[in-house]
Amino acid sequence: MPELPEVETVRRGLEPAMDGARFVKVEVHRGDLRWPLPKDFAQRLEGKTVTGIGRRAKYLLTDLSSGDVLLMHLGMSGSFYVFREGQVRSPEQNGDETPGRYYHERSQHVAHDHVIFHMSSGAIVTFNDPRRFGFMKIVARKKLDAEPLLNGLGPEPLGNEFDAAMLAQACKGKKTSLKAALSDQRVVAGLGNIYVCEALHRALLSSKRMASTIASRNGVPNERAERLVEAIKAVLKDAIKAGGSSLRDHKRTDGELGTFQHHFRVYDREGQKCPTPGCRGTVKRIVQNGRSTFYCPACQK
Ligand SMILES: [Zn+2]
Repeated sequence: MPELPEVETVRRGLEPAMDGARFVKVEVHRGDLRWPLPKDFAQRLEGKTVTGIGRRAKYLLTDLSSGDVLLMHLGMSGSFYVFREGQVRSPEQNGDETPGRYYHERSQHVAHDHVIFHMSSGAIVTFNDPRRFGFMKIVARKKLDAEPLLNGLGPEPLGNEFDAAMLAQACKGKKTSLKAALSDQRVVAGLGNIYVCEALHRALLSSKRMASTIASRNGVPNERAERLVEAIKAVLKDAIKAGGSSLRDHKRTDGELGTFQHHFRVYDREGQKCPTPGCRGTVKRIVQNGRSTFYCPACQK
């Protein structure tokens, strides 16, 4: 499943193709994504200009000249291809033309091309999603605050407002594990299994540690909260940097996690040496709340 850094890389990849461009034609091949597309989907886009592409957690927010926002989510297996008018779609091009394809396998099958945007920039933006858990929705910008998908979300982890004080407030008195707290979208938005594991390792904190132990009873952050916030921001920034630069550097054809595993310190590295300098531990895997946690029992306390 795409995580925040990948969605951010997708956003950056779509920007040159879509920002400032007009929807010339919108083709809907299959409207039954996670939720059905509205009947007037194409009409509400065609002729409108994109005035900006933003991101909130794992949602892409495309602002339109009409005052609407096109809300898009990649779901489990969604991705975008960007082609130029007249370019032939071929698998060899996918590695270069697919923003955000840096660790999750994507379909290259045209049968899964559900929505196609023909932009006035000459770009053809295709949404491909074999499992159809992704979705698109059009919401009026002025009603966005009331949008149920967005209004329960916690702070953006790379935003300035997300700091140790805020995380400590959210974790004070919480008897759940740090892993569970960080995976809770109300505590911090957009973190998934991979980056929770990576951040906890970088902060040298055990995923089983009780969330309340990063704060005083009143919610004042301690040094662990500071370390954790720094680690969360650092792993996300590194991953975004890697995603951006790796689009052209790597091609892959194998399983779910391919050439980019080396960017991970612990995720999917069970049995390997812990990368913390001076640590002689070995990466272990346990299951917490039904998901794998990768961690080093020697240096994560
Ligand atoms: Zn270690």
